[in-house]
Amino acid sequence: FLPHLVASLEQVEQTYIMVKPDGVQRGLVGEIISRFERKGFKLTGLKLFQCPKELAEEHYKDLKTKSFYSTLIDYITSGPVVWEGVGVVASARKLIGSTNPLQAEPGTIRGDLAVQTGRNVVHGSDSPENGKRETALWFKEGELCEWTPAQAPWLME
Ligand code: UDP
Ligand code: MG
Repeated sequence: FLPHLVASLEQVEQTYIMVKPDGVQRGLVGEIISRFERKGFKLTGLKLFQCPKELAEEHYKDLKTKSFYSTLIDYITSGPVVWEGVGVVASARKLIGSTNPLQAEPGTIRGDLAVQTGRNVVHGSDSPENGKRETALWFKEGELCEWTPAQAPWLME
């Protein structure tokens, strides 16, 4: 099997997954990363990070007018991770579950591990465009890894 048989470049999306501060405090980093690993997504960057206010504001700029914006900014501080793969953006949102953990299905991260919207343990980009934008926001040049997972041909035909 050759890497070029696995996925053409235009099929590859990038998503930005963040274990939020409550997920880090509650010791759920491994559990959450494990779910994406088991699904088969390729990890390309990982860091533990204390998020400055300006970065949190840029990340959530679309929500600036919302009533919960300032509490959301207070809430977000550390623990981002990036994943990429075929169709990863929509698929990751499904693994994560609804924004409100009360509505999130059992089996999803929020359905299994969270109670309230304001403490919903994880973030996932909502579109391929935002996947790119957020990845560029949280990771510098040279912080992402280019590699071919050995399991790739067994996951994708
Ligand atoms: N949030 C909140 N109250 C709300 C809606 C959202 O505190 O009524 C927080 C919550 O942490 C959510 C984040 O703001 O994950 C971003 O909101 P969005 O609608 O983008 O939800 P997501 O994409 O994270 O599911
Ligand atoms: Mg969102």
